[in-house]
Amino acid sequence: MNFSKVKEAKNLHWIHWCIITFSLCLTLFAWKVAKDQAYEKIKVKFNREADQAIELLKERMEKYEDALWSGVALVKTYNDQVDYKTWLKFSNSLNIDDKYPGINGIGVIYNVTNFDSYLKDQKNHRPNYSVYPEHNKKEKFPITYIEPLQANNKAVGLDIAHEKNRYEAAIKARDTGKAQITGQIFLVQDKNKTPGFLFYAPFYRGEAPTSLEKRRQQFAGMVYAPFVVKKLMEGTLAKQKRHVGLRINDNKNVLYDENNPSHKEYDPSPLFTRTSKINFFGREWSFDIRSTVDFKNSYKTNTPLVILIGGIFIDVLLFLLFLSLTRSSKRAYRYAKKMHKKAEEQRALVVNSNKLAALGEMAGGVAHEINNPLAIISVHMLQLRTLLTKKDTENALKLCDNIDATVLRISNIVKSMRKLSRDSSKDNFEIFYVKELIEDCLQLCHEKFVSRGIKLYTQNIDDSLIINCNKIQISQVMINLLNNAYDAICESPDPWIKIQAIKNGLTAEIIFTDSGQGIDQDIQDKILNPFFTTKPLGLGTGIGLSISKTIVENHSGRLILDAHQQNTSFKIILPRVVESKTIGVGA
Ligand code: ADP
Repeated sequence: MNFSKVKEAKNLHWIHWCIITFSLCLTLFAWKVAKDQAYEKIKVKFNREADQAIELLKERMEKYEDALWSGVALVKTYNDQVDYKTWLKFSNSLNIDDKYPGINGIGVIYNVTNFDSYLKDQKNHRPNYSVYPEHNKKEKFPITYIEPLQANNKAVGLDIAHEKNRYEAAIKARDTGKAQITGQIFLVQDKNKTPGFLFYAPFYRGEAPTSLEKRRQQFAGMVYAPFVVKKLMEGTLAKQKRHVGLRINDNKNVLYDENNPSHKEYDPSPLFTRTSKINFFGREWSFDIRSTVDFKNSYKTNTPLVILIGGIFIDVLLFLLFLSLTRSSKRAYRYAKKMHKKAEEQRALVVNSNKLAALGEMAGGVAHEINNPLAIISVHMLQLRTLLTKKDTENALKLCDNIDATVLRISNIVKSMRKLSRDSSKDNFEIFYVKELIEDCLQLCHEKFVSRGIKLYTQNIDDSLIINCNKIQISQVMINLLNNAYDAICESPDPWIKIQAIKNGLTAEIIFTDSGQGIDQDIQDKILNPFFTTKPLGLGTGIGLSISKTIVENHSGRLILDAHQQNTSFKIILPRVVESKTIGVGA
């Protein structure tokens, strides 16, 4: 693994950020959906409650209307001239307080055409009865009876034609024949003077009239009920568990209002508001409905908030998980880097130990290589003495030159040994002639091979061949190949080793061929593997070729067994230097 190419994870990876962002968006989306759903759900509840309140009021008013029509039926039974006792009986039978909560009473208003006779008639059994107030309308619609009397006493004798709202609704009831309510009024009997209205049901003399003309001619009066709106609402809606507040407007007049801060359920920032306009017995009532504080408390749901908090919590966990993963991977990276460095060091050690072993194998030959010149020097010294005794200076000097040359040879061998044995793992690549590399190697090996009768020769060495390399490492590879050849052929008859260095396109090929008959086919694939050896225990380690292969590959080259040759042949193939560069001078 090349750690220089692998980057250490810094903080969170962009994929982690994407996942966290996605999860956050998902949370917000789920929260929004849950919120919208909850909102829609309670909106339905609000509308249902608002509808219920209006419906209840409508139903109630229809019930009151029925009571009015039953009053009309009673009056008709008595030929339009019902007496007070009968009316009282009828009103008592209605049981207003229990059955019609909200209604203030029920009464009869006559359309008086002959006022004097009407008043006389009434005074016959009610001497205190009077009609008031005076007004300039031609119609006279005095309230004749109203029960229960005690609560409505003030209204008895009131001519409703004196006031616009009461009068107009009466005319409308007369002309349509339908039940009708007035616009906003204040009942004379209501001490608090809160908004109210009258509810009329008209009755006619004789057969039921079929046209407006006949209705006007036959109009005899109305059964009516006075309402205080506040009382009506309390009577109608008190039992309902409501979470909405109402305001009822008749035109611009506020008939009833719960939507103000004085109301205990008033919500200054309601969840919902709505306005519904309803046609109510000839009037258009507008209902402003808004949710109350109680509505908020009853239907408030925490689900969206739980989803939001839960989602954010998971996102935070996710973030922490990624953070801890990143930290672990950082630790793992650093550990792997440390181990990689250790392994590299170990590998360098193994390479170096292989090199030293290879040099060791050469040591015997080197000893010979040094001993021979030493023996030569020793002989030359004897000869030198003799010559000096004879005062033969000329030959003595020649001998001295020979001794110098021999000493230089020994010094070169020692230098080569020193060079090759030092640690080269940190050496830079330099440019060398291949020929020079081969010669340096042979200087070390020569004696070892010659002493065992192995012919060592070079062939086709291209003088111009240049490579960019770590000299010591390439020498190590060559010594490995020479040592292996030595082991393979030293016992065979007529052994030889041939070294070639040729150009092949952009590569340099250094070929080592020995007199062996090649490598068995079944082990050809294995010999370059680490620790593969066919040598007896203690002699072979099986790492020479595998290290050599690695070294050559680190030089962007290849080490191959050329199985096509008759004899055993290994090729070092390296990129050659084509352009002229500065050549290394024996690093
Ligand atoms: P070692 O020399 O310690 O066995 P190497 O990796 O150098 O390890 O060689 C692996 C094996 O390759 C050797 O044991 C031998 O069988 C085979 N081999 C290498 N070079 C030659 C050769 N020139 N002739 C025959 N066999 C060879």
